[in-house]
Amino acid sequence: MPTSTFDIFRFQPDQGPDSYRQAFTLEHGTDLTLLDAILRLQDEQDGTLAVRYSCRSAICGSCACKADGKTVLACMSQVEDLKAQNGGQPVRVDPIGNFRPLKDLIVDMDPFWDKFKSVKPYLIPDGPAPEKERIVSKEAMQKIYNESKCILCAACYSECNSLAADPEFVGPAALAWGFRFAGDERDGQRHNRAKLYSGEHGVWDCTRCMYCNERCPKGVDPRDAIEKLGGIAFSEGVSWADAGARHAKAFLISMRTGGKLNETLLVPFTNPIKSQLDLPFALRMLSKGKAPSPIPHKVKNLGEVKKLMKNVKETI
Ligand code: SF4
Ligand code: SF4
Repeated sequence: MPTSTFDIFRFQPDQGPDSYRQAFTLEHGTDLTLLDAILRLQDEQDGTLAVRYSCRSAICGSCACKADGKTVLACMSQVEDLKAQNGGQPVRVDPIGNFRPLKDLIVDMDPFWDKFKSVKPYLIPDGPAPEKERIVSKEAMQKIYNESKCILCAACYSECNSLAADPEFVGPAALAWGFRFAGDERDGQRHNRAKLYSGEHGVWDCTRCMYCNERCPKGVDPRDAIEKLGGIAFSEGVSWADAGARHAKAFLISMRTGGKLNETLLVPFTNPIKSQLDLPFALRMLSKGKAPSPIPHKVKNLGEVKKLMKNVKETI
């Protein structure tokens, strides 16, 4: 029978942010999940060890925690796999990141639920209600299938770099739900949703680190949803209000006109006022050959690049 050691963060509200860590040892069968290990430790060794869980089947999303620094669903993680990955070291267990701990592995989820509610995660159809139901094709549902799989476990939120820098960022899960409804052909609020999600702390504040895609246990790929929301913001014409959106637009224009990135366009598009103040400096840089020419250079096969961009647009 294998024996495993666990190094678990014990947060006690009255002992400050670092509290203490506790080592536990457990003898167990080969198919023990991390959640079952924690529950056995709680049952057999220390009844004060606090963990949140419900279904044990990767459906409720309650047992997300960090195992050796990576956010996982405890009920989906096998202890023997974790040991194989960490070279047989004690499995280090921590609460999920970007949340305030309340007790041991339990965190305050309120900010997560507030942001979830802020994206209006429900259908708001236009026009009178049909006699029976709103029929939607399989193909149309396929477009929002990934986002519909979200179980709100907050694993993505725990790993999000933007949130670590800006706690007001709405976060990957809420934005994935935003696309789940903005992309639903039964919804009548596409334009308003594009405005809502494109504001401060929204779509354009994502740093594209991709950790949310990497750690999501259900294959939702929230970063992809954010990308699609950016596309909706462009098609709905609400992309000029935010510097991040203007930055993305400069990329697009640059690719369309020259077939490659023209860095000199980025600053005036992204921040027109600041770029005027920086103009003398930019001119000095240009005169010394330290900045690329603002006149767009065209690549030889511009037609091919345009075709490629058209194909990508149609695929999305
Ligand atoms: S997007 Fe994935 S990681 Fe984020 S809350 Fe939903 S299921 Fe969890
Ligand atoms: S890709 Fe964006 S939303 Fe996803 S974790 Fe990184 S910063 Fe957060």
